[in-house]
Amino acid sequence: MDSNRTEGNMIIPKEPKLTEEQLKEIKDIVNEYNCKIQPIEGIHRTIYALLGEEREQVMINRILGLDYIDRFDAIDSPYKLMDIHSELTHHQIKVGNSIVGTEPFIIAGQCTIDPNNPNYFLETAHAVKEAGAKAIRGGVWKPRTMPYSYQGDDSAIKILVEAREQTGLPIDTEVMDEHQLEVAMDAKVDILQIGTRNALNYSLLKKIGEKTAGTQTAVLLKRSRAMGPINELIAAAEYIAAGGNPNVMLCPRGTIPQVDGYRNNPDESITPLVKEKTWAPVIVDPSHSVGRAKYVCAASMAAMAYGADGLIIETHVDPKYGIGDDPKQALKPDELKTLINNVNLIWGLTKKK
Ligand code: PEP
Ligand code: MN
Repeated sequence: MDSNRTEGNMIIPKEPKLTEEQLKEIKDIVNEYNCKIQPIEGIHRTIYALLGEEREQVMINRILGLDYIDRFDAIDSPYKLMDIHSELTHHQIKVGNSIVGTEPFIIAGQCTIDPNNPNYFLETAHAVKEAGAKAIRGGVWKPRTMPYSYQGDDSAIKILVEAREQTGLPIDTEVMDEHQLEVAMDAKVDILQIGTRNALNYSLLKKIGEKTAGTQTAVLLKRSRAMGPINELIAAAEYIAAGGNPNVMLCPRGTIPQVDGYRNNPDESITPLVKEKTWAPVIVDPSHSVGRAKYVCAASMAAMAYGADGLIIETHVDPKYGIGDDPKQALKPDELKTLINNVNLIWGLTKKK
């Protein structure tokens, strides 16, 4: 067996969820074998991942002997929870009123919220809703290449929350550290974005999984610019799921080396490869992969043709007044509307009913 492959075990109870006493009884058993139980709450039921040296047959027999246990599922995979063959394969991620995967899930909005000009963001939020977006994005904190560029500000979270109140759409923002995670969770941000720079920050991934365990919070995990093998992206998602939150969506957003003329090396074409290995929805980010507004629509259509479940598109009512990436790569709301109409047509052609 190759060293990073393990037999993944899931404990499936007869009822949708174990009682406190039942969970304690199982925890007491697995503790004797230095294993851990991680409950993974789905919309309809909870399953229980067994983590650690879980191949101890006596332990497995003792658990199987409990009358409230239906079965023990084992899959041979480096990622027990995110694998396409895991018990979670029918897990659905609900964000706002959308169930991701049932219709194109389009997240749109500004790269960066400008706290000095909240009205731009609020107008953008209404405009993307009108264009057909299902969630609003807006950077409260920004990972900037240059330390003197605008870094974001806690105060912008209020503007993001205001946009959700006014439009009724769920909200997405990037978090880079525990403080930001706390502020975002207090604000009940619906989608926590992990940016390309932190996609390999395993302690942050674990922390986000643990802090959002048992909640409906979704996580949009961008692909690292430096990630090659697709397994690395899925393994990063596994860190979040193993922490307790399986609501992870994977986001190809371009890698290096860049294609001359584009911001990155566009990677929407990995979508079918990702989908062969994991049940996680794929939400492609063409804005950052091509990095120029004029190429975003074509890249979006390509992503949908490759089978993406959705897109995240930087949009601004007046990009030249934006900060961060917006002047270069944000679409205007009418362009977003055309894009959404186009991708809806492609969805109709390619998604099996
Ligand atoms: C963003 O979404 O604005 C962003 C910074 O994305 P990435 O982490 O993909 O660069
Ligand atoms: Mn951006």
